[in-house]
Amino acid sequence: MGFCYLNSVALAVLEALARGQRKVAVFDFDVHHGNGTEDILRCRPDCAFFSIHQFPAYPGTGESSHQNIHNYPVPPGAPRAEYRQNLADALAALRRYEPTLIAVSAGFDAYYGDPLSDAALETDDFHWLGVELRAIGVPVFSVLEGATAPRSRT
Ligand SMILES: [Zn+2]
Repeated sequence: MGFCYLNSVALAVLEALARGQRKVAVFDFDVHHGNGTEDILRCRPDCAFFSIHQFPAYPGTGESSHQNIHNYPVPPGAPRAEYRQNLADALAALRRYEPTLIAVSAGFDAYYGDPLSDAALETDDFHWLGVELRAIGVPVFSVLEGATAPRSRT
């Protein structure tokens, strides 16, 4: 669902599994829940979905976790430290999953200045995320998802 006709990350994950990957993790930090990715990957034993997103917010899903779906809802207006703690918790869970490949749904609309959200991440937080994901030591690829031109801080 979301704003997309095709779910690029889910297609890539399914192709990677068809080509022999054993455990693929999707790390979705777009501020909107990845409901389409969740629907496609739900209940599959060979992949796991980790989504950190504002909730409640569009599309209105992602409040709870189940089986291979790990959702980290963050309330609108949450302080930057709370949002970042949810990202850290999701990263820790992803590490425990021990994936052979990580697919990143890279949405930058949790940035402080993005008019589509009420989140408070800064560019340093996105840099930190990239360093942490790379440090896991397995192949990582990312697909750009949401972001709009940020308003300036006043
Ligand atoms: Zn988004």
